[in-house]
Amino acid sequence: MQVRRLPLFLIAFLTLAPVMARAASAQTAPTPPAEGGKAEIVLRRSDAADPAASARWAIAIHGGAGVIEKTMPEPEKREYVQSLEAALKIGRDVLAAGGTSLDAVEKVVRFLEDDPRFNAGKGAVFTHDGTHELDAAIMDGRDLSCGSVAGLKTVRNPVSLARLVMERSEHVFFVGDGAERFADQMKVERVDQKYFFTQRRHDQWQEALQKERQGSGDASPDRKRGTVGAAALDVHGNLAAATSTGGMTNKRFGRLGDVPIIGAGTYANNRTAAISATGWGEKFIRHTVAHDISALMEYGGLTLQQAADRVIHGKLDKGDGGIVAVARDGSIALVFNSEGMFRGAADAGGRFEVRIWE
Ligand code: ASP
Repeated sequence: MQVRRLPLFLIAFLTLAPVMARAASAQTAPTPPAEGGKAEIVLRRSDAADPAASARWAIAIHGGAGVIEKTMPEPEKREYVQSLEAALKIGRDVLAAGGTSLDAVEKVVRFLEDDPRFNAGKGAVFTHDGTHELDAAIMDGRDLSCGSVAGLKTVRNPVSLARLVMERSEHVFFVGDGAERFADQMKVERVDQKYFFTQRRHDQWQEALQKERQGSGDASPDRKRGTVGAAALDVHGNLAAATSTGGMTNKRFGRLGDVPIIGAGTYANNRTAAISATGWGEKFIRHTVAHDISALMEYGGLTLQQAADRVIHGKLDKGDGGIVAVARDGSIALVFNSEGMFRGAADAGGRFEVRIWE
């Protein structure tokens, strides 16, 4: 029996193989995640067969959006550009070497957290009470697993703690003291609040307090500027996003922004895109900005650029902020409705650019 069935099987295989190969090479979507569990990383046939396709990767990064004066002194501008370029190179090197999008976004965000120019990690803004409280999130587009931390006071690199929440806990979101206890368990690097101090952020806080006393509200231009984030697609077809922030200058006790709220400031889904936002957090929460962009793509069939334009220009108000995002096809969107956004983009096609204004 066995002997007689073998040739039949071979005939069927030989007939079907070319059809299956064609179908596989036409497939552009990553393998959908398995129901209820972590998806396998599957190298698509099209990737394996086509060296150009297998080299496809893309990354977009930001260092905050808001009123960024065009009169910024040249040396300062150069420093920002150099820092963003260095961050972008870190992401590019991970992705070009076949690394994962998760590693790329975490490394980029860690680097920017350590840079005192940006409002995340060292250089974080001051709260109303003169402290620093940090929020961060990371998301894996393969299976929607994610990790968030908020209200951290002593963790040097919040994005890495967020990743540990995602990978080493049963939960998604830790806040305040609980998040710090989790940090203890994970033995991540802790620092004194003084570590986050920068004179510039201190002065902005004092200015905000003074404006408040004079009754001129939240007019400080630097309030909505300096959050960091990244979105990436790797050669395995997987998307990831990460964002980290000190929040907004003069924020009140226990205030959380959009950054650690999955779907508001951070989101990644292999079916659509990876998105990291920056701007006035309360507005991004109300409009669930990052998920809205993904939903417009998934249910409405919009491209990433169309979806991002619709939400950033159509739903938010001018000056609220922006997003950086990478779609599953490797396209990049850098969209903002504020005067400027520190941002950068790189891909396998040789794109490598950093910009602040238009
Ligand atoms: N979105 C951040 C927050 O509201 C601030 C920013 O992006 O500058 O916490």
